Amino acid sequence: MTIDRTQNEREGVAYTGTPSEQELHDSGGYATQERQERGPVAFIECVECIPCNPCESACPYHAITVGPDITALPQLDGEKCIGCGLCIAVCPGLAIYVKSKHHSETHTTISFPYEYVPLPSKGDTVNLTDRNGDVVCQGRVLNVFTSRRNDRTAVVQAEFDKRYCSEVVSMKLPRSDERERGR
Ligand code: SF4
Ligand code: SF4
Repeated sequence: MTIDRTQNEREGVAYTGTPSEQELHDSGGYATQERQERGPVAFIECVECIPCNPCESACPYHAITVGPDITALPQLDGEKCIGCGLCIAVCPGLAIYVKSKHHSETHTTISFPYEYVPLPSKGDTVNLTDRNGDVVCQGRVLNVFTSRRNDRTAVVQAEFDKRYCSEVVSMKLPRSDERERGR
């Protein structure tokens, strides 16, 4: 699949380094809105036609297809995806996360790849960010998965106020000087 960038000449990964909403929705990596409402599901934010496909073979439910052209964009079949998260750590581009929009009445959860140190700990309050790295809200870490199978990519699961559901994609810890000031 190719993406028509003519409508967003100043937006998008080629101009800003981060994909635009239009690119993400056109890429085939998102489940339908209706599917997103139903339970945990993967979000694939991979919009550049690079030769890559470990996400395809990582999914035991065959919910991700790249196909014989290894530069094709991964396509997510939201009906096959169960939100297990096994694809998150295998993506070298850190482009996949899993969200459960209605984890509770008030909170959404997100599981995303994280390759910085120190890792957060279960129970920590962290700053959750959008795809530009800007802080959106605070969240609470529910789990940090560091299985050997994930190599050195941890998967962090956090919960946060569902009002920010569409914006949050990752997190950042406070800098050491910010932590000092918070004492
Ligand atoms: S979250 Fe699980 S089921 Fe969904 S695409 Fe990833 S590996 Fe497949
Ligand atoms: S593994 Fe990641 S970077 Fe590679 S095709 Fe899949 S989503 Fe894109």
